[in-house]
Amino acid sequence: MTSDLEQFGPTETFPCDENSEAFAVVRLAVEVSRDQLRTALAIGHAELNGTPPLDDMAVRDIRREVEGHLAAAATISLYRETEAVVRRVNEAGILPTIDAAINRAYTRTADDRAQQSARYGDGTVTLLTTDRGEITIDEPPWCAGHDGDMVGTLDEISHNGAEITVPFVTARSAPSTIMTAQLSHAPYLTLAPEPFPVLYVELDEHCDLDVPDGRNLSRALRLAAVRLDRALDGLARLRGDHR
Ligand SMILES: [Zn+2]
Repeated sequence: MTSDLEQFGPTETFPCDENSEAFAVVRLAVEVSRDQLRTALAIGHAELNGTPPLDDMAVRDIRREVEGHLAAAATISLYRETEAVVRRVNEAGILPTIDAAINRAYTRTADDRAQQSARYGDGTVTLLTTDRGEITIDEPPWCAGHDGDMVGTLDEISHNGAEITVPFVTARSAPSTIMTAQLSHAPYLTLAPEPFPVLYVELDEHCDLDVPDGRNLSRALRLAAVRLDRALDGLARLRGDHR
């Protein structure tokens, strides 16, 4: 059933209660009914004293209210129980067992946290992989490098070009990025092979616009089109006959 439902969020990460120190972020997906959405939004909106009116709220803010209510319900219920439960498991002597399970599930091992320390040669780069050890591969001149990459398997290696971004600013919401694009090539992918570089593009915006903000959007889209065309010219040169 879940796979048939539309999925939304997370819109943002909600802080843990102010008396606790954050340890990890747990991402959660919850099926909700329309009545539960009504309830979460009505409570969240009441806590805002009903302003702005729901009709004027951006989609992102509506989702933030709903997710915020769900997150608060979980945080408050944990907060109420924390002291008693921690004391009880401590007295029962099972705290070390619980901590060991948490360490297995909620901390990364040194291996999967390792960052690449790439070594660059003449048109090559030497990288560490978890399945093939150290390997030396061709490094395309447009690749921005691998120093921020995490160590992974050979087929996860991806060459990524410099990021092209197009900003979008409105009077109502925080500045955002309407398009992000970069050349990308993962030459060792096996399931969905990528024999030639592609242009990776992210486009995402949901908003309610008045006229000035609508003009800001059309300006941003024109700028996005210009930058997209320029990036595609570069991609066409790299792909040659393989359009
Ligand atoms: Zn590269």
